[in-house]
Amino acid sequence: MKEPEINRNRLVEDFIRLVKIDSLTRSERLMALALRKDLQELGVEAIEDDAGQKIGSSCGNIIGVLAGTKKNARPIFFAAHMDRVTPGEGINPQVKDGMITSDGTTILAADDVAGMVSILEALRVLREQKIPHGEVGVLFTISEEGGLHGAKNLDLSILPGEMGYVLDSGGEVGTIVVQAPSQVSLRAAFHGKAAHAGVNPEAGINALQAAATAVARMKLGRIDPETTANIGIFWAGNATNIICEEAELKGEARSLDAGKLEKQVDHMREQLEKAAEEFKATVEVTLTESYTTYHLTADDPVVALAVQACEKLGLAPTLQSTGGGSDANVLNKRGRPTVVLGMGYENAHSKEERIAVDQLAKGAQLALSIIMEA
Ligand SMILES: [Zn+2]
Repeated sequence: MKEPEINRNRLVEDFIRLVKIDSLTRSERLMALALRKDLQELGVEAIEDDAGQKIGSSCGNIIGVLAGTKKNARPIFFAAHMDRVTPGEGINPQVKDGMITSDGTTILAADDVAGMVSILEALRVLREQKIPHGEVGVLFTISEEGGLHGAKNLDLSILPGEMGYVLDSGGEVGTIVVQAPSQVSLRAAFHGKAAHAGVNPEAGINALQAAATAVARMKLGRIDPETTANIGIFWAGNATNIICEEAELKGEARSLDAGKLEKQVDHMREQLEKAAEEFKATVEVTLTESYTTYHLTADDPVVALAVQACEKLGLAPTLQSTGGGSDANVLNKRGRPTVVLGMGYENAHSKEERIAVDQLAKGAQLALSIIMEA
């Protein structure tokens, strides 16, 4: 049987419509309203959970439930995030020579509008062409950027589907992200002692110098093929004539391997504590697990279904590992096997962000194919 065609023009129009709705992290309300309306028009029951109240967003996650019309199909779900990074307000998308870009003053927000419109277009074609399907869950999350807070606070009891697809990765359509790291966030607050820098420096303890010494001794950057570490924020001091009393660092470590992550985090903590001791300062180290690793293989049904759907479309499936976290980390941890699919967008989180119309169309086609093969 020939694969049903998606409607390219409608898809591009839909992409532009959603890109133009301002939806920065924690201000996703207008986007949520538009998506709820879209889902209702598609005969999909749409529910908003209470995640927004828990994390201080202007709305909750939107969960859609499309009842199945075919027996023996596996229930699945799709997810995409409603929020976007800055500069992401007043986006003015341009379509030229088969490529969609911003006007150069903002991001494009193909991350993750491409995911949202692919899901909507797949559902439209299902309905128009009366294609039999199993139960399909739809999840539009809030606050994915900067912490996966929507997924972490999701009311999972509403979302159907025993396994899922997060439509939210760069890489050509056909990319299937089956492995992602754990991340630990680190905060270190150094306390020294203030004193006049010219009159009585002997009485002071320089928190800045202790913190800087710790950072200088740390192994950072790429630690090994599976592990990375970074100190990205350093605050200290307010006058040159005062021995610096307080300094604060923020950083992170990630690894695909739990043991290696622990080793790296221990190393960072050790350097912080050692430097504090040498300078007779004190340090409080706070470690928080931001998200947990997952690793699926070609034998897992969620991966096998994506591979099968790609092959049906003549797309070459590539199973990949990533260094970044996504809502899939949270959903896997919460018991729903989930992979991330490449949506074909490029240069995400920059003003050079772009997506080819062809990739956008393939993304929607793949979502449809997964539903049909489930
Ligand atoms: Zn994203």
